[in-house]
Amino acid sequence: MRVAEELQKWMAHFDWPASAQDRNFEILLGLLALALLAGLAFRKITTSFLTLRALALAPTLSRRVSDWVKSADYSENEVWGADGAGEGWVMLRKEAIDRLASFFRVHYAKSIAWGNEIRESFSDLRFTDANRVPFPFMRAMREKFSLCSVVTESNGPRLCDLDGNWSLDVSGSYGLNLAGFDRYKEWMEKGLKQVSDLGPVLGPLHPIVFENISILKTISKLDEVSFHMSGTEAVMAAVRLARFNTRRKLIVCFSGAYHGWWDGVQPGLGSERTISDCLTLKDLHPASLEVLRRRTREIAAVLINPVQSFHPNLPPPSDTILLTSGVRKTEDSTSSYAQWLRKLREVCTASGIPLIFDEVFSGFRLAPGGAQEYFGVQADMVVYGKSVAGGMPIGVVCGKKELMRRFDPEHPMRIAYVIGTFSAHPVVMGAMNEFLKWLGQPETLDLYVEAKRRCEQWVCSTNERLSELSLPVRVMNFATIWTVLFKEPGRYNWLLQYYLRANGVTLSWVGTGRCMSSMDFTTDDYRELQTKLVDAAQSMKRDGWWLNEEQQPGREGTMRSRLIWEIAKSVVQVPKPLASFYTEIMQRKKDDHHASHSNLVNQFFHLLSSSTFIFCYFFIFFNFTLAIFLSMAALFVRQFGHAILEPPCHDKEKALLGFNTRNKTIIVAGYFLIPVVQVARLWGYDSLNAESFSSILPTVAQQWFLLTLAAVLGRVLYLNWAHNFRTSMIWFVKLITDPITDIFAYHNSVEKMMRLPPSSRSEATH
Ligand code: PMP
Repeated sequence: MRVAEELQKWMAHFDWPASAQDRNFEILLGLLALALLAGLAFRKITTSFLTLRALALAPTLSRRVSDWVKSADYSENEVWGADGAGEGWVMLRKEAIDRLASFFRVHYAKSIAWGNEIRESFSDLRFTDANRVPFPFMRAMREKFSLCSVVTESNGPRLCDLDGNWSLDVSGSYGLNLAGFDRYKEWMEKGLKQVSDLGPVLGPLHPIVFENISILKTISKLDEVSFHMSGTEAVMAAVRLARFNTRRKLIVCFSGAYHGWWDGVQPGLGSERTISDCLTLKDLHPASLEVLRRRTREIAAVLINPVQSFHPNLPPPSDTILLTSGVRKTEDSTSSYAQWLRKLREVCTASGIPLIFDEVFSGFRLAPGGAQEYFGVQADMVVYGKSVAGGMPIGVVCGKKELMRRFDPEHPMRIAYVIGTFSAHPVVMGAMNEFLKWLGQPETLDLYVEAKRRCEQWVCSTNERLSELSLPVRVMNFATIWTVLFKEPGRYNWLLQYYLRANGVTLSWVGTGRCMSSMDFTTDDYRELQTKLVDAAQSMKRDGWWLNEEQQPGREGTMRSRLIWEIAKSVVQVPKPLASFYTEIMQRKKDDHHASHSNLVNQFFHLLSSSTFIFCYFFIFFNFTLAIFLSMAALFVRQFGHAILEPPCHDKEKALLGFNTRNKTIIVAGYFLIPVVQVARLWGYDSLNAESFSSILPTVAQQWFLLTLAAVLGRVLYLNWAHNFRTSMIWFVKLITDPITDIFAYHNSVEKMMRLPPSSRSEATH
């Protein structure tokens, strides 16, 4: 009211009639409302802009792209030469694959038979199987290998399979195996004994639950605990409780993090649902902090996965992503990550946003007090899983009192219905009790320190060995989690998992991407692991999967362009007739190359002439005569290369191409004849001088051009008559695109020649 009075007084200063004053007062109010709306809109726009800056686009984009990318398997001919390696290498690789496949068939016969029996009935197995190999290679690998890990016994870090083979296990049992299988066996047995008198009684609680809760509270430094059956379930519970107790909707996650299979926290690949209540921001990015500050009133919690993989913003580096070597990255980010977590904690505290640590994977692997202890940051809620129940299935949420409430004290009908049948199952509680007691022993800390030290030492000595042997492989660890990195570009790096397997190493479904050593890995075990890894890498190199620049010149470029082309092909579906037209042209080019383009000097001449042709394709519009003369010179160089340096073997040509190029000679003779006739005419008129000579040049150029048109058209018509229209077009398109593909094929002919000893350069062939 007072504001209105003030405004009216202020308006009275203007000498308006009373009715006008009233009207202007309304206008002013309207303007004020508009200013308010504009302010709000401005705030909304700036918030959206800030969010966009911090938003991780990869998850949403990859999900969108997944709809377009069509499955495309390499054919039998393509699959072992996807990097553009020559035929010799492809043969070597084929033999290696056959050898490896027959090794598995002999040594893993029972496991393979078991897998074949069950695969079609067990969808989990089909899912994990499908994730071992990049998809274009999947069909070929499935045809050759139908491996299945079926194990019956464990002893230390070793597993025995159905066929009686013992292997070193670095799969980590999805992260559960921290302490070594023998300890879990003991905890599960002892735990079961503790509760065996009760059996599977659910609802009423076994007294052991009290001790477990006390220890978990001490470890997490939080007020309350709730039990679930898996990490995924516990994450779902934590998110629901945060939403319920803050009365806000939005959950903030970070790019590349995995929080279990619930699609509510899976914004990217792997989920079909578009979610609007989970925002995926960039990890380790200041813009993300700004969004938290700005959108405080919407955000129910920030959910993080401390050290989600070896590189921020990237998902766990499985073998399926290994389309090239550059994809898998690591970063020694421990200290920068700790700093980031501290900043995140500060912002969350200042903004009143609960911070949830999803420690299901990293939790007890880093330190007895989990990631909170390791990074020195206290969360408001922590989710544990995997190892914490001593080998039994589990998910745990620990949290502050005000976040763990499932009832609203002021609104009794408002409840968060979160509870499961198997919460605090006695058998799980028994094994958990054994694990938690072990965790609290002073000697356990030494085990952590020792395990990390041994793993680090192994990484150092293995990398030294790999480097000595010039193998393009390195290992890198974070505590006892480690990954394999590939130093050279390669399209077959994912095959290392098969060689390792043949050497007796068990990997998880993500292959060489994420491996784990349990605490019972002794120095001898590590030594054995090193030998197996080095042997596997040496075999891969021997079998031609990692070629160097000398063995395959221009390798990196070839691989990159092929990959881009393949991705484009799988996204943009080329109509089948067009694709087969293209394939046939490329096949002809390949055949042509094999028939008469192996001499390096000839290749160099082709490089020269092709570059000139391409220049002339454009130059002809500016200076017709000069362009034609240049083209003729280029043609001469080209034909010289063929006729003198590498006389075409017409029989070979005929066998590969279906026709030979003998008649080219007639055309070349025709080209010579044109200037000869013109000069003879001048001579006949007795007017052969520099001026008259230069006057006939445009005529010669025109006639050359016409002859070319006639020859090309003639050939097209002939092929159309003798074969069909398609064949004639294949020939025509190949002819006009040859200069371009020749440049790609022969661009390094000079370099190759230079690498040869001078004595053999004259007959240089490759
Ligand atoms: N969070 C993280 C960080 C995980 O690594 C996992 C499992 N790998 C989960 C949640 C889900 O746990 P679970 O598989 O027990 O459901």
